[in-house]
Amino acid sequence: MNTIKDNILTLQARINQAREKYARTDHVLLLAVSKTKPVEAIIEAMEAGQHAFGENYVQEGTDKVQYFASHYPQSALEWHFIGPIQSNKTRPVAEHFSWVHTVDRAKIAQRLNDQRPESLPPLQVLIQVNTSSEVSKSGVNEHEIAALARQISTLPNLTLRGLMSIPENVSDYNSQLAAFQKLAALQKTLQAEYPSADTLSMGMTGDMEAAIEAGSTIVRIGTAIFGARNYSK
Ligand SMILES: *Cc1c(COP(=O)(O)O)cnc(C)c1O
Repeated sequence: MNTIKDNILTLQARINQAREKYARTDHVLLLAVSKTKPVEAIIEAMEAGQHAFGENYVQEGTDKVQYFASHYPQSALEWHFIGPIQSNKTRPVAEHFSWVHTVDRAKIAQRLNDQRPESLPPLQVLIQVNTSSEVSKSGVNEHEIAALARQISTLPNLTLRGLMSIPENVSDYNSQLAAFQKLAALQKTLQAEYPSADTLSMGMTGDMEAAIEAGSTIVRIGTAIFGARNYSK
C-alpha cells in the first residue's frame, strides 16, 4: 500500500506535469482534504511537507485545528473550510479557519464577518457557484455572483478571493473541462472588478488535470492522498 507521503509526492508531480503541459506559470495549491481522517493521517501528511488542509464538518474540523494549534504550534498549518455551512454554525468557522470555500448567501457572509475575531487577519472567502444547476447542490447560480460579491466586498473582516465549485461528477475529460472553463470565465469577470478575487478552487481526485488546464489555483484532493473514506464509524 502507498503511504500518505508517497501519495503527496505523486500528486505534486501530477500537478507539476499538468502545469507544464498547460503552460501554467502561476502556483496551484494542493489542498489535502482530511475530512473523516484521524490526526495521525494529518501528521503523516504534514511530515511530508503538506501545509494546507480542508475540512467539511464544523465540529470535526474545529477539533483538528485546535489539536494542531496546541500540539504543533510551530507547524503553521493553513485550514480551509470546504463543507456546507449552516448559519448557526458560523462562529467556530470564523474563529478557527483561514479560508472558507463555501459562502453562498449574504446571511452567512455577514455572520462570518461579525464573528471573525479582530485579532485574526480577514477570513479569505470564496463564493461557491453551482455550475451544473443540479437542484440538490449548494452554491449560487452565475447570475447571483455579482450581488454576493458586492456585499462581501463591504465586509471588513472578509476578503473576497474568488470562486469555488463542485461540478457534476463526469468521467469524460471534455465535459469536465467545459464546466471548469465556465467557472474560470466567471472568475475572470469577477477579478476585473475585485482584484483580490484571484483564486479558483476546482478539481478533485478524479478531474484534477482538466481543472488545471482550465486555470484552477486550488485543487482539493482527499482520496488520492488519504485513501477511501469510511463514513460508517
Ligand atoms: C470531499 C471533498 C473533496 C475531496 O474529494 P476526493 O474525491 O476525495 O478527492 C473535495 N472538495 C470537497 C468540497 C469535498 O467535500
